[in-house]
Amino acid sequence: MANQLTDLRHRTLRDLRISVTDRCNFRCRYCMPSEIFGPDYEFLPKDSILTYEEMTRLARIFVSSGVKKLRITGGEPLMRKDLPTLIRALNQIEGVEDIAMTTNGVLLPKYAKALREAGLKRVTVSLDSLDDARFRLMNGGKSGVQPVLDGIEAAEQSGMKVKINMVVQKGINDQDILPMASYFRERKHSLRFIEFMDVGNTNGWKLDNVVTKKEILEIIQESMPLEPVDALYNGEVASRYRYKGSNEEIGIISSVSEAFCSTCSRARISAEGKLYTCLFASRGHDLRALLRSDQTDRDIAKFIEDVWTARSDSYSEDRMTNTHSLPKIEMSQIGG
Ligand code: SAM
Ligand code: SF4
Ligand code: SF4
Repeated sequence: MANQLTDLRHRTLRDLRISVTDRCNFRCRYCMPSEIFGPDYEFLPKDSILTYEEMTRLARIFVSSGVKKLRITGGEPLMRKDLPTLIRALNQIEGVEDIAMTTNGVLLPKYAKALREAGLKRVTVSLDSLDDARFRLMNGGKSGVQPVLDGIEAAEQSGMKVKINMVVQKGINDQDILPMASYFRERKHSLRFIEFMDVGNTNGWKLDNVVTKKEILEIIQESMPLEPVDALYNGEVASRYRYKGSNEEIGIISSVSEAFCSTCSRARISAEGKLYTCLFASRGHDLRALLRSDQTDRDIAKFIEDVWTARSDSYSEDRMTNTHSLPKIEMSQIGG
């Protein structure tokens, strides 16, 4: 029986997000603006990134500490070579109930089949607009809409369940809320709207640019009435709504307007092996140093226990008071 770790606010460690690379083939303005992440930007050197063996070992230790769900993220996870090898290894860990991946989708036509065969059953594809010009503006000119739709199609064809993530920014893509909702409702993919967050230190976040959950709901309800759906489990990140009279759903991740820190059960490992107990943390705990020393699994489990049981993070609840200006880890390093 796995251990159960609870933090200072009685939140149990249940989810682990593993970032497999800090690199990306997009330059989304809200995540990796190209002025900062330009040709001279120094990404992590190969030997400072965890190997798949190290990630698998860590995942096994986290599972023995109570983690049930794993999510692979990045940067763009499909930029890392041989990702199915990692998925296969993670899939063999006893006690893992769910493995998912978040991706921008453009490499899915190439890899979806191999990922599915390796045991990946769920994928979340990020797409912020169905309008080519607007989408290009948001991703730094790196892709039009069709390659992402092709990726979604490939994932579906391979037998994976697909969800869509859309980050909403006022004045940038709020006019896309309704077209995106209708499009994915028709195709029966759950679309999750994410309030624009002040992750990292470079994306120029302002509260004025956030379209709140309430505003998103109002826009959709004008033409497609919705009703709330009960959370499936404690700690579910998105609040879910069903289109009345149907089984199709949307989700809203309201980290700015309605913080959900009180049920946050997620730990994150950056590509270089630092453990973060909050998306907005300024400091990580170095697991790579432990992995590359003579520490046993039990020693590392004890280290994780000490970090989690001392955790009191509640950044989103405190955002409006004094935390927004503190330095934070970049989103592309821990993957959302
Ligand atoms: N590259 C992959 C992708 O884009 O799906 C995985 C990593 S990305 C950092 C994970 C998720 O974080 C994506 O759905 C992305 O849209 C979201 N994200 C990035 N920056 C964000 C921000 N400032 N506010 C809200 N969501 C953000
Ligand atoms: Fe890349 Fe994803 Fe960040 Fe966009 S959100 S820059 S696709 S890591
Ligand atoms: Fe969890 Fe930190 Fe987000 Fe709160 S702000 S929900 S503690 S990751």
